[in-house]
Amino acid sequence: MDSVEALRRKIYSKRDEMIELQRALTAVPALGPQNGGEGEWKKAQVLISWLDKLGLGPVELVSAPDARVPGGQRPNIVATIPGAPEPGTFWVMTHMDIVPPGEARLWESDPYAMVIKGDRLIGRGVEDNQQSLVASVFAGACIRELGLSPRRTVRLLFVSDEETGSAQGVQHVLSASRLFNPRDLALVPDSGSPQGDLIEIAEKSILWLKFVITGRQCHASTPEKGVNAFEAGSHLVVRLGALRERFKATDQLFSPPTSTFVPTRKDANVPNINTLPGEDVFYLDSRVLPREDLGAVTGEIRRICDSIEGDFGVQVRVEEVQKASSPPTSPDAPIVTTLRNAIRHVYGVEASTVGIGGGTVGAYLRAAGIPTVVWSRIEENAHQPNEFCLVENMLGDSLVMALAMLG
Ligand SMILES: [Zn+2]
Repeated sequence: MDSVEALRRKIYSKRDEMIELQRALTAVPALGPQNGGEGEWKKAQVLISWLDKLGLGPVELVSAPDARVPGGQRPNIVATIPGAPEPGTFWVMTHMDIVPPGEARLWESDPYAMVIKGDRLIGRGVEDNQQSLVASVFAGACIRELGLSPRRTVRLLFVSDEETGSAQGVQHVLSASRLFNPRDLALVPDSGSPQGDLIEIAEKSILWLKFVITGRQCHASTPEKGVNAFEAGSHLVVRLGALRERFKATDQLFSPPTSTFVPTRKDANVPNINTLPGEDVFYLDSRVLPREDLGAVTGEIRRICDSIEGDFGVQVRVEEVQKASSPPTSPDAPIVTTLRNAIRHVYGVEASTVGIGGGTVGAYLRAAGIPTVVWSRIEENAHQPNEFCLVENMLGDSLVMALAMLG
């Protein structure tokens, strides 16, 4: 029997234990303080005791201080599986925190008491992100149990605070520890498709802007005495449409293949009809292809604002609400090839590389220079009531991860 077949048998023999770990983790809700919870500490204790039991201890803790939670710490856990002396570390990063269950009446069972129905595990967090978390734990444990040697050092990283911004999660680990190195590679199994055939390697840059247009308020019957900020702001919204023409590069990795510039939120101005508004506020959501220069985009936006100021006699202030960009991971990066081979072996599908318009935590690792892929085989019901995961996906993904670790 070859080592791949031995690994497959070993992982599938752990089915009951994997389900038990899912149950134990579901029973300790880890909600961040912004979501009204006490953080991830209790869940981390459960996980650490399992890691010890499975031979993956002792773990390293990179906790982030946070006065809002009991104990004052948001835990980030690192379990190391030594490998061959090939440079760099292979990271598998998953998150411990969950989102609240939402409306209780939409749940058919207690979200924190896991239920098994056929091949489904049901409960808050079982898919997002415990399916992958448990899969990574048992991938590492089975490799150790069989005495196999990963191609390079493997580190399983279990982070806090993924659902509410990652400041106390991966961002803290990146800034507070010296564990990461540009020779590393990373798998973030926190998004995917039901066929397991999409490997996310790139994200559009995110630019969220707030526009504050200031004119002069007056009675609407004497508009010549004021400067109408709403009218100027409306012209500004229309002129910003020129961004789509100016930045029209395409990249078929993404869907849609272009940068997008979308006016979204509009704040209320005056409450009554007979006052000419002296201030107007709206927002623009931009998702810019990595190949475009974000500086050129903000420069063009300022130029358009200047033209509105000149034509309407208003002031336009532009505030950055969010700005994030990360270099794409090459479709030819070794992590992509390794993962694609493992997926083909386990699921019999040919995975394609894609880019997305939304943001994931993978972007923080890419921004740190680490080639990163986001992949898993999931039913995509994260954050929904009656969240479930398929045991078959948990087992299969565990084998994919183990094969990727072995390289
Ligand atoms: Zn998630």
